[in-house]
Amino acid sequence: MKLRNGAEYIESLRQLHPRIYYKGQMIEDVTRHPATAPHVRAAAMTYALASKAKFKDLATATSHLTGRTISRFTHIHQNIEDLIKKIKLLRVLGQKTGTCFQRCVGFDGINAVYSVAYEVDKKYGTDYMERFKQWLTRIQDENLMVVGAMTDPKGDRSKGPADQSDPDQYVRVVERREDGVVIRGAKLHMTGAVNSHEILIMPTTALDERSRDYAIVCAIPIDAPGITLIFGRQAGDDRRDHLERIDVGKPRFGVVGGEAVIAFEDVFVPNERIFMNGETDYAGSLVYRFAAHHRANYGACKTGLMDVLTGAVSYLAQIQGTAKGSHIRDKVTEMIHLSETLYSSSIACSAEGQPTPSGAYLVDTMLANVCKQNVTRFHFEVARLATDIAGGFIATMPSEYDLESEAVGHLVEKYFSGVSEIPVKERIKIGRLIEAMTGGTAMVESMHGAGSPQAQRIMIFREGRLAEKIKLAKALAGIPGRGKGKGKAAGGGNK
Ligand code: SF4
Ligand code: FE
Repeated sequence: MKLRNGAEYIESLRQLHPRIYYKGQMIEDVTRHPATAPHVRAAAMTYALASKAKFKDLATATSHLTGRTISRFTHIHQNIEDLIKKIKLLRVLGQKTGTCFQRCVGFDGINAVYSVAYEVDKKYGTDYMERFKQWLTRIQDENLMVVGAMTDPKGDRSKGPADQSDPDQYVRVVERREDGVVIRGAKLHMTGAVNSHEILIMPTTALDERSRDYAIVCAIPIDAPGITLIFGRQAGDDRRDHLERIDVGKPRFGVVGGEAVIAFEDVFVPNERIFMNGETDYAGSLVYRFAAHHRANYGACKTGLMDVLTGAVSYLAQIQGTAKGSHIRDKVTEMIHLSETLYSSSIACSAEGQPTPSGAYLVDTMLANVCKQNVTRFHFEVARLATDIAGGFIATMPSEYDLESEAVGHLVEKYFSGVSEIPVKERIKIGRLIEAMTGGTAMVESMHGAGSPQAQRIMIFREGRLAEKIKLAKALAGIPGRGKGKGKAAGGGNK
């Protein structure tokens, strides 16, 4: 692995020159800019862990392409053990950063593209797999971070890509050349984009035959000509102008992943970096496999965050003298119960994984959808319980400037104290951490990251094997199998 630790990753970003805007200004160095540096540090943790003996087994893998040791984030899952190790790794990283460390999106994209390229080649005699393996070998050897770019702007949601009044609402090929293609469009909400080395572009939806130009999968360096990134605002980001301040809550790492728009204004992609080009019938499988892998993650990375939050409110309860209350213990117990339930889902969908024809393993898609669906509820409940235990001060306390002020500092000191032997600053610090982990954007990510709740409900219904369940009921009730319910049930098909 060329990049062996967090420091080398950060240094490698300084060698790139992506065009990034934030609040109307160009960001020259993402590793130092206060808006992006915390996200860079969170992603750097994925590199740091690989160099620590304790986590090496989780954070690294053996490449099935080269036999060399690589970061797990660049690995193609070869068995169930790989799927489970990924889940364990994500939980550890969630615990260490308390935020999104971003690198899983590219990881999931790599695995989805690998399995689909194999099937496209089989059907059409193309050579996408060979190209992809060559590109992936470089990603593995150099240990690069890839942003998996799937979500298109979508324009008028009642229409598909081919029917939009503005055809650029989905990323598309605008020109085909002998040596490659030219693409145009944009991808939104791209987690970790500003601190990635490469972009892996994938379609965002199943496509019909009229949408051939939209069936494009390819890889592009983050600083290729024609690419512009616009980094998104986050709640409370003004506080980050003073990163060293307690008010930030979590000074080293971001509150969420750090998302950006990636715009492609006629970007040339050479043939060797194209892994699907017009095979519309495979776009749906690609989206679905990517989504399943990413949905499996959420019971792991978010559980890591919930572990931190549970620790934070438990400590706060101790230092403000409420820890012994039976209702506090009960709420903490419920937080743990919900976290572990989510983790069970992530482990379960991995343990039930199956090989795809390419040999790459895919999680159980039904259980992965159930996992993510539960995150959209349980994470909110965990945050609600945390807010309940912590008390209102996490949303209303004065800033560190007031704590330090000659005029009012003594008042903050006096009225924000807890049990006497604990410095008031400590209570404020832990309160700010809880604020950062429960307020606003982290919740939005749990709700909509890896697909909004309705996306999982559609798949859960589709994979619900209703026909089989109807059969079971009929058999027990002594109803003969005929007509409706004998074959496929309405809407709820078999796998
Ligand atoms: Fe990884 Fe979780 Fe962030 Fe997705 S939300 S990129 S799974 S840490
Ligand atoms: Fe996410």
